[in-house]
Amino acid sequence: MTASPENIVVRFAPSPTGRLHVGNARAALFNWLFAKKSGGRFMLRMDDTDDERSTPEFAAGIEADMAWLGLSHDIFARQSERLARYEAAATQLKQAGLLYPCYESAMELDRKRKRQMARGLPPVYDRAALALSDEDRAKLEAEGRKPHWRFRLEQVHTAFDDLIQGHVEVDGASLSDPVLIREDGRFLYTLPSVVDDIDFGISHVIRGSDHITNTGVQIQLIRALGATPPVYAHYSLLNGPEGRPLSKRDDAASFSLQALREAGYEPMALNALLARLGTPDPVEPVLALAALAETFDIARLGRADIRFDPADLARVNAAILHLTPYEAAQPRLAALGCDLGPDFWAAVRPNLALFAEVAGWARVVRGPVEPVIEDAGFAAAAAAALPPEPWDEATWGLWTGAVKAATGAKGKALFMPLRLALTGRPHGPELKNLLPLIGRRRAETRLRGLTD
Ligand code: GLU
Repeated sequence: MTASPENIVVRFAPSPTGRLHVGNARAALFNWLFAKKSGGRFMLRMDDTDDERSTPEFAAGIEADMAWLGLSHDIFARQSERLARYEAAATQLKQAGLLYPCYESAMELDRKRKRQMARGLPPVYDRAALALSDEDRAKLEAEGRKPHWRFRLEQVHTAFDDLIQGHVEVDGASLSDPVLIREDGRFLYTLPSVVDDIDFGISHVIRGSDHITNTGVQIQLIRALGATPPVYAHYSLLNGPEGRPLSKRDDAASFSLQALREAGYEPMALNALLARLGTPDPVEPVLALAALAETFDIARLGRADIRFDPADLARVNAAILHLTPYEAAQPRLAALGCDLGPDFWAAVRPNLALFAEVAGWARVVRGPVEPVIEDAGFAAAAAAALPPEPWDEATWGLWTGAVKAATGAKGKALFMPLRLALTGRPHGPELKNLLPLIGRRRAETRLRGLTD
């Protein structure tokens, strides 16, 4: 297939059986960036054929998570609305003799596997069901058994050129014929996914390396349905900070997007980190998805497993805030009721780890502040030395020079008591920037030990 923008279509295909975690976000992001970079289209597909575990609430939650990340889609589909297409494909495969009914129970299959392993054989399905006669089948069905349906794999090596892994071969002989339809009639993941990839003209399937074996099966299935397989790219999986795969437990705790959002992280911090993990400089603040897309190169993603460390996220988050211009921050400042203007934002942003901390600094500027006064005499001398307004960023230097001359204090002994009196805190933004925002009246009140 030629890769002209019109026929580049990629998809992110979550199952709405939970909310998104950072591993899913990475899949969504890679596909989205690939589409933007190549001028193609991005599809969001809900893999919701498992109607026991999928819920509309999780699906809505996933859409909310995607909107929070800023990953908008061009095409949307729900598999639960496309069952007729999967039935048609199943019929086509049955007619070709490639989808066959099997009647073994889970327990029988388990016993077979154990016997094979005891004999040192790989636990591959023995295709006993292929030997059943019409009579055998009728008998089993009369006993009340319902078939599940397996796809008859060709026992050959299926090869593909992966954009990340390079040349890959999957040996069909080492795999069990996959079950496509369960005995209750529900489709498992494989057939709907393949039918959709064909019907929506998916040109590139970008997903985790845990799907490499599936790809061998899916290529066979796509060909059996008379279509051409897409190009594949399997990226390495994301591990947690200890280098272990992200588990369901981790997801629920701190790696769900919902949890990260509630913790106050910027979505762009997550996007920037996830796009660059595994490259030489992962912790780099990038303020817009478009900028990430420009430099995104799928072939640069390495094959080694990589780690997601919340400490890296915190670092990118802070770095992004420190670069965020007032215009971008303004609506959010206003929403928090602390839009004190561009000088305020410029003064406090270098001190922010999380955006919400801005409210604390707005209070330091506007009051009330409970001043911390350790030496009332020193503070009174400092109050007396406050120059008249108007104030600007030169005021701090003038004033502290005067306080130094009046009291003999210098260095930390000069600056710390002033900071504690003016802000009530031992650390914070540079006082030369804060002082003009606090203003003379409040500064004097605080230096006198009074809450303004
Ligand atoms: N629903 C599948 C999953 O979440 C999609 C995998 C694929 O990309 O084909 O694993």
